[in-house]
Amino acid sequence: MKNIRNFCIIAHIDHGKSTLADRLLDFTGSVTEREKQDQLLDNMDLERERGITIKSHAIQMDYVHNGEPFVLNLIDTPGHVDFSYEVSRSIAACEGALLVVDAAQSIQAQTISNLYLALEHDLEIIPVLNKVDLPSANPEEVTDDIVDLLGCDPEEVIPASAKTGIGIKDILTAIIDRIPAPEGDSSGQLQALVFDSVYNPFRGVETYFRILNGELKKGQKIKFMATGKDYFADEIGTLKLTQRPKQIISTGDVGYLITGIKDAREVKVGDTITLAENPSQDAIAGFEDVKPMVFAGIYPVDTEDFEELRSSMEKLQLNDASLVFTPESSAALGFGFRCGFLGMLHMEIIQERLEREFNMTVITTVPNVSYHAFTNKNPDDVVIVNNPTDLPEPSTLNRVEEPYIKATIITKSDFVGNVMSLCIDKRGQITNQTYLTTERVELNFDMPLAEIVFDFYDRLKTVSKGYASFDYSPIGMRSSKLVRVDILLNGQTVDALSALVHADNAYNIGKKMCEKLKELIPRQQFDIPIQAAIGAKIISRETIKALRKDVTAKCYGGDISRKRKLLEKQKKGKKRMRQVGNVEIPQQAFMAVLKLN
Ligand code: GDP
Ligand code: MG
Repeated sequence: MKNIRNFCIIAHIDHGKSTLADRLLDFTGSVTEREKQDQLLDNMDLERERGITIKSHAIQMDYVHNGEPFVLNLIDTPGHVDFSYEVSRSIAACEGALLVVDAAQSIQAQTISNLYLALEHDLEIIPVLNKVDLPSANPEEVTDDIVDLLGCDPEEVIPASAKTGIGIKDILTAIIDRIPAPEGDSSGQLQALVFDSVYNPFRGVETYFRILNGELKKGQKIKFMATGKDYFADEIGTLKLTQRPKQIISTGDVGYLITGIKDAREVKVGDTITLAENPSQDAIAGFEDVKPMVFAGIYPVDTEDFEELRSSMEKLQLNDASLVFTPESSAALGFGFRCGFLGMLHMEIIQERLEREFNMTVITTVPNVSYHAFTNKNPDDVVIVNNPTDLPEPSTLNRVEEPYIKATIITKSDFVGNVMSLCIDKRGQITNQTYLTTERVELNFDMPLAEIVFDFYDRLKTVSKGYASFDYSPIGMRSSKLVRVDILLNGQTVDALSALVHADNAYNIGKKMCEKLKELIPRQQFDIPIQAAIGAKIISRETIKALRKDVTAKCYGGDISRKRKLLEKQKKGKKRMRQVGNVEIPQQAFMAVLKLN
């Protein structure tokens, strides 16, 4: 145990976390030439394309320091706010963290939010000044920034380049010297923290764990404390680039477990594994059932594909436990599912996987957060509103609450004004403003989560010319004046287009929605009135004028093959259109409310 070090790497996106991980594996000889690929730890196609680590993994390195052998477990943490609970569990499995800061970019929002998570878990922080090879690097200034942030000595900051290999040995030495060895009682009852799990279609769910007390032997009967279920530890082992089966894993170490579980939902990140016989009485603190933050309807483009969509979603859920869905029906779209996601990125990933892996063409409705409504009749009973159409009638409504977040934004002082007006426009209240240096400012806002979901990132980037970084964490529910804006096409309400918005913005949003839909819905053979309404009250109106030209008119019925080609072409263009009443609505229209500015 005294020669084990468990650590993670935390950084703002693009500051070099994955590159540094690769370099550490290289340096410790954990990779053979053949195994070398760029970004070894990002092994899902989607992750590689997006350049982010979606699922965290762990990897073990052997390293001899001053003649003494050490085992270094690197626990990779996901780099996106959608997966912040998983980040917190990975951090909880470590004693130390490398805090990687780009020597040209300096401290950014995720540097700070991840650092706070690490400090909450009392991790030893090793600051790494990365990319010192860059001509644009500012090593002195950025070192000062880090010293200010951590209150450490400048000598503690390790200058490094994950690209050229500068400082890698110093980092390994610091891991061994500065990070404490794990503590715990190897003769005690087993307590192992589940910090991740991965679905493997052939072997079932692979569970990644860190043992806090006791030991686990192959073949033992184990219990997951949160779910209460028992399984046999069919295979256990440590994680090199490939899995290395072992007979026993002991206190302080990190490993994987295979039990034949076929459903990802049975293994919950944050759960405690103990033995079925002589179990530990206490679960490791901090377990949370991951709750979806963003909801949207997913419907098959072709109503006949509903059952196929259901089976695809069920399969997806087997390997992504954070996806939740329940069947729902919409007057406009027919049968589909209300799905819950960890955030917008997660939603995009699911949509993409449905298309790539399951060949489904789906319509996604506008995402919304989960609201709490209370009626006058039962003012203490919460009605969970995951779909705007579930909001109780305005006349019966006592109040509505919506989820709030604490936003951390770091920007240059030149852009403080712009960022403030954006956040205020998004119903944010400033809670703190700190000058990190004369140039760089940290701003904190309390904001409704719903406003982040709606095009916030893009606008932040625009108003700051790209010089702003952003992160957030949930801070609970708050009362809000919310109303539902409905959209009527041809006099009929299209439920899938309804949105919950703040009362003060309702008129403006209703008006813009009508204008946007007019742009997005193709002209048809007749006039289509578009109206926005709150309850029975119409607040805005536009009309899509009838189409005059018949596309096939030019063919005079003579050239059949040409006519057929034209019709084929039209059909293709119709992909992702839904017929609602007698109006055809393209996919973009269902997202129109997100793109109003
Ligand atoms: P992550 O998002 O923190 O995992 O960052 P990556 O490891 O993917 O690195 C982001 C980009 O920075 C990539 O293009 C890397 O090649 C580059 N990079 C990482 N470390 C260094 C470094 O030390 N020097 C230079 N010049 N580039 C680096
Ligand atoms: Mg990465």
